[in-house]
Amino acid sequence: MTTSILRLYLMQVASLLPINIPVPCYLIQTEDGKNILIDSGLPLDASRLPKMPGMAEPHMELSVIEQLAKLGLKPSDIDILICTHFDVDHAGNHALFTNAEVIVQREHYELARSGHARFALVRDQWDDPALHYRLIDGDTEILPGLTLIETSGHVPGHQSVLLRLHERGTILLTIDAVAMQTSFTRDRVGGPMDMNADDAIASTQKLLDIAQREHVALIIYGHDGHQWPSLKKLPEYYY
Ligand SMILES: [Zn+2]
Repeated sequence: MTTSILRLYLMQVASLLPINIPVPCYLIQTEDGKNILIDSGLPLDASRLPKMPGMAEPHMELSVIEQLAKLGLKPSDIDILICTHFDVDHAGNHALFTNAEVIVQREHYELARSGHARFALVRDQWDDPALHYRLIDGDTEILPGLTLIETSGHVPGHQSVLLRLHERGTILLTIDAVAMQTSFTRDRVGGPMDMNADDAIASTQKLLDIAQREHVALIIYGHDGHQWPSLKKLPEYYY
């Protein structure tokens, strides 16, 4: 597999307390100067989120805007926004990225547009009429070295990301298909936030197969507070 991917940055935009679950976004830079953002984090004004009993309390870190600014980038510099799904911790600032081609699985987009309550919290962000959507169906290579992997279960039309770097090799971002390393097993069970446990298990098996077949060198889990401290964060990057 050839690759056009130069760098991968990890940004922590929030933590969910009390157990310090990271909320990440990712930035990919290509050889020809494209900036590709994956997810946009919790809304900047987290106070708009409903208080739910038993739900973790968000603690905001530097926002996606502030972290992009550290690299000299503005929201208008983002060429592609990859939407893994429209949960509130992944799609909270989408409306800022009106210059980007916004890529989401058709199945997910149509479910959310139909008015599903789970995705209504930040609908003003992901359903902003100024956004330019590209709807895809299933696994799709976006650029040489960058493939989106359909991994339904957490939500229908969730997507994970497979990318190839020159030095570090192939990296799999499981996103919320596998939030924690302890769930990356063939005998896992569904989690409390998974809409369909059978699909979540099947998607995990799909990712396990891909990890083996593609000789994945690094797997980054969606919200793993144990793994997170061991990873490089912006301004450091993988290359
Ligand atoms: Zn999440």
